[in-house]
Amino acid sequence: MNITQRIKDFAKSLGLEIRVTSAEPFIKEAEKIKKQRERGLFLDNNHWQDRDIENFCNPASVLNGAKSIISAFLFYLTPDEPNLSIPGRPYGLVARYTRRNYYKELKKRLKKLAERLKKEYRANMAVHACGPIAEKPIAQRSGIGYYGKHSIIINPEFGSWIVLGEIITDLELEPDTSLNLNCGDCRRCIDVCPTGAIIEPYVIDRKKCIQNLTHHPCIIPDDIARVWADRIYGCTTCQDVCPMNEKIKPEEPKTEIGTVGAYLPLVEILTMDEKTYRSRYANNQISARWVSFDAIKRNALIALGNIKDKKTIPIIKKFLNNSNYILQETARWALSQF
Ligand code: SF4
Ligand code: SF4
Repeated sequence: MNITQRIKDFAKSLGLEIRVTSAEPFIKEAEKIKKQRERGLFLDNNHWQDRDIENFCNPASVLNGAKSIISAFLFYLTPDEPNLSIPGRPYGLVARYTRRNYYKELKKRLKKLAERLKKEYRANMAVHACGPIAEKPIAQRSGIGYYGKHSIIINPEFGSWIVLGEIITDLELEPDTSLNLNCGDCRRCIDVCPTGAIIEPYVIDRKKCIQNLTHHPCIIPDDIARVWADRIYGCTTCQDVCPMNEKIKPEEPKTEIGTVGAYLPLVEILTMDEKTYRSRYANNQISARWVSFDAIKRNALIALGNIKDKKTIPIIKKFLNNSNYILQETARWALSQF
């Protein structure tokens, strides 16, 4: 049996279905990011420098002598959970991929695989899940899935309900081929996106995308805040409506790492200090370093403005004098909705 097949078999015993691609740079992806930066489609246009984009799209930037990439995913769709809201204690919705930390679970399994490869083949490895390299093009080139028009990878068996991770290695492995699939004439995600953030097939304006905005501290324009609904973190509306996800059945959770569930108590979050918040939700993405706590509080205020539970007016009012201008303005917006 060849090395690639042996690695796939071992991955399977860890509950991972893997595919392989070469470690060649993703030149088209780098061009795409640069074009989107020029069009102002990122939340912070100064965030991307040319060198960062090139590194992001070049697997050798995380491992010298990289030859192959082992590409993996974890399916995260779990059964729906009840909304726990009662008058005076409304809850906000957490996007499906954030209800547990599947990235950590995937990374844990990939590390086990990498340890075995190191031992058996003395190979060098870099293990990642959730960056800092271009994961979607890796998943696409290795045949894990194909790009939907919402710019998310769709796997033929598990839909888009997957998180991605990979091992970059200097082992020479047999590459898999990419899938010859696409969305055809469908444009449901484009038509249903509440903010019109999918400005053309495969192109997202992140300044309009709730998914991106939920972790970014800024004032949310009125037209977006009105359709924000009760979200506290993330958005999956474009995935919820996708016909490729329609027949995918949820499964029991594959991990309990960082479990926060589908709903978070909004008033409690608004009265917590940052230290309490980060320790209570430790291990989940919502407390990741790059997620602004002010953005989370702003999300909670927007959700309260949309839920319109009169018992929450006093807590919203407290933010009218907050030292943070974004929270002050959002509290004003929330009160104007009653
Ligand atoms: S995540 Fe939400 S806001 Fe962003 S493109 Fe999808 S539906 Fe639109
Ligand atoms: S909703 Fe339709 S267009 Fe959008 S990703 Fe799914 S199949 Fe593609």
